[in-house]
Amino acid sequence: MKHLTIDPSTSGLPTKDHVATKPFPEAKTTKVHPSNAKEEDTNATLYFIGTATTILEWEGIRILTDPNFLHAGDHVHLGPGVSGTRQTNPAIDLEELPRIDAVLLSHYHEDHFDRLVEDKLRRELPIITTPHAKSCLEGKGKESFTAVHALDFFESLQVDVKDDGGVKQKKPSIKITGMPGKHVPPGPLSIANDILKAVPPTNGWMIELGYADGPEQFEDGYRIYISGDTLMVDELKEIPERYKGQNIDLMLIHLGGTTIPGPSMPLLMVTMDAKQGVQLMQLINPDLTIPIHYDDYDVFMSPLSDFKKAVLEAGLSDKVVYLDRKDQFKFNVRQSSGSGMGSESLLAEKLATQAV
Ligand SMILES: [Zn+2]
Repeated sequence: MKHLTIDPSTSGLPTKDHVATKPFPEAKTTKVHPSNAKEEDTNATLYFIGTATTILEWEGIRILTDPNFLHAGDHVHLGPGVSGTRQTNPAIDLEELPRIDAVLLSHYHEDHFDRLVEDKLRRELPIITTPHAKSCLEGKGKESFTAVHALDFFESLQVDVKDDGGVKQKKPSIKITGMPGKHVPPGPLSIANDILKAVPPTNGWMIELGYADGPEQFEDGYRIYISGDTLMVDELKEIPERYKGQNIDLMLIHLGGTTIPGPSMPLLMVTMDAKQGVQLMQLINPDLTIPIHYDDYDVFMSPLSDFKKAVLEAGLSDKVVYLDRKDQFKFNVRQSSGSGMGSESLLAEKLATQAV
């Protein structure tokens, strides 16, 4: 397995334009998992910025997914003769990003990594992505990104979080595995796309937050599957097979039913619509699903209301949490009692904190 060590205390500023560290953005609404949990019993946060852009924060580490900070009216190029116009604004601007320790990029497409982001992100920021995106990000001459890590389908990278070296025997660790995805339906179009390289290859991700006490020792505490920009294809069936008996706590699903070349000529759907989204929920069977990437561009032709209706009809409403831009979701990463800091010491620590 590949390894990467991140020390949040040395991560630096996220963009070339930042002159000082910004605070973690304030949320409009906070939702928790499970819904009857108290916010103070959670230890991890997912903040929704817009499109597929989120900040995942846990144990002092922050991962930014698919950074897209364009505004309503801005355009993205999505392939030869294909463009999209943004309909929404991000919850925060690029300049307001707090400290970020790594970027997780599902594929090299402008609604996931826009030109502004590409110009401004600090070159040394670690980026975990597809082999295709790695070659693009490293092929920019003097402006190349210098810490890009590529993962193929089902290939894993263990991100070890460097902490203060305290009493904990097991260290916080994040296992990231590339999941299959297909942005173009199988068949002749897919073959043509392989030749034309119009729509880039895409990954999904399995993010496992947990603790490790050695290079290959890893204990999962919360498992998040991110679909990426995929259609509901046979390749996804391998995911529940590979994770049989392992609970998937949360799924972030890229919806929108992206249709190209565009609304005036809707020829080809390249991301899941409401119906496929529900099919994926049934296939993966996560405890909870949060839809993202659902209304930000004019080429997203399946609105969130369609998904809400399909979820209701499938009897799955209690399995979905809806986030608006600027909302956050809080959850608890489990830590086994053998993790060097058992529940008793955690409680003691919490009480000590409250007393201050
Ligand atoms: Zn997209």
